Amino acid sequence: MTELQPVRGTRDLIGEDQRRYQHVVNTARRISARYGMAEWATPIFEDTRVFSRSLGETSDVVMKEMYSFQDRGGDSLTLRPEATAGICRALVTNGLTQSLPQKVFYTGPMFRYERPQKGRYRQFHQIDVEVLGSAEPLADAEVIACGWDILQALGVADDVVLEINTLGDRASRDAYRAALVEYFSDHRAGLSEDSLARLERNPLRILDSKDEGDRRIIAGAPTINAHLTEAAATFYAGLKGYLAALGVPFVENPRIVRGLDYYGHTAFEFVTSRLGAQGTVMGGGRYDGLVEEMGGPPTPAVGWAAGIERLSMLLTELPPAPRPVAVVPVGEAAEVAALAVLQALRHEGIRAEMAYRGNLKRRMERANRIGARAALILGEAEVARGIAQVKDLDTGTQEEVPLAELPSKLR
Ligand code: ATP
Ligand code: MG
Repeated sequence: MTELQPVRGTRDLIGEDQRRYQHVVNTARRISARYGMAEWATPIFEDTRVFSRSLGETSDVVMKEMYSFQDRGGDSLTLRPEATAGICRALVTNGLTQSLPQKVFYTGPMFRYERPQKGRYRQFHQIDVEVLGSAEPLADAEVIACGWDILQALGVADDVVLEINTLGDRASRDAYRAALVEYFSDHRAGLSEDSLARLERNPLRILDSKDEGDRRIIAGAPTINAHLTEAAATFYAGLKGYLAALGVPFVENPRIVRGLDYYGHTAFEFVTSRLGAQGTVMGGGRYDGLVEEMGGPPTPAVGWAAGIERLSMLLTELPPAPRPVAVVPVGEAAEVAALAVLQALRHEGIRAEMAYRGNLKRRMERANRIGARAALILGEAEVARGIAQVKDLDTGTQEEVPLAELPSKLR
């Protein structure tokens, strides 16, 4: 029989890969809770319209990357390519638009049909923070500060730069769009196929192009600054002031537009030079129109998502793998008594393992192989005296410990 392979662009998470993954998720969960974020979970698949409406028909994700399929009942469903749309759908379906703001932490697998490469997969995983129901730039700043704290707690902040931009309000964007159409129309000849299509539908998205030729033209494109309304400029100034007050360092990058169509005002990315072409580890912004797209009332909102795989690759320090103690019975009669000791330790919250078979030598070998910190050796003599020989597997020293004192000794 041929050996079956994982689907292209998917990966197994085992051993250290799993520990990196867990460390990112646990850290993000712990830090976001300090900001008052509550964890939500929504289904992995949704009605395709949840994504096609919200991401914008012209976004890369909707045009080329979605895993959409018809189920047996004939409904068009899509494996979620990102979290925000489902969160907004859930806000509306659960009647939470009446109790705002909602501060959300979210994590899980996402699916995009992309060309797999380092840091780019077809099933990947995100952590995600959203604040729904606030139109204040302080909400944007707090969401960003939460992301920055998570990067610091992971020990990767030194390798990452926060770049921010504003996409203004509707009026700013309309004026800017006209300026961009004029500029890019003069440079049609040099634009990629994709960008020519964007020129008709959504010229802002050209700024997000990764094509080399496009990038050269983009370098000379006008920025939004000259087109910001007073309200939009005030909002942006507010954001920058709050970031400074919260102690979050940033640089401004007028080229950041974000890949999805629903953004306005704040757009930001945390970027690194350590991951080659896949340099964006965290990205987000303000999406005031999205909840309405889901059939809810107008609800301003802001949030970000970060790729767990990219964060995992940046990690240089992992918490050490937990080390169990190994219970080592010597002889059949001692095994029953050893099981009671094993279970008592586990019930006291101590990681404890016992091999299913083997003589003393084999069991000691296994204890070393699983990285045990200590071996509890229990022969018949020890059982009769109510003690265990506790061998420290790092120093090799051994001492007798009464069974009742084992938990406090080992904790
Ligand atoms: P990119 O420009 O790299 O394609 P994006 O703008 O499509 O990113 P978002 O939709 O903003 O990405 O998703 C937020 C984060 O999720 C990204 O910054 C990245 O860390 C991660 N991410 C996105 N797509 C993938 C993928 N295919 N594989 C791994 N991580 C991904
Ligand atoms: Mg992408």
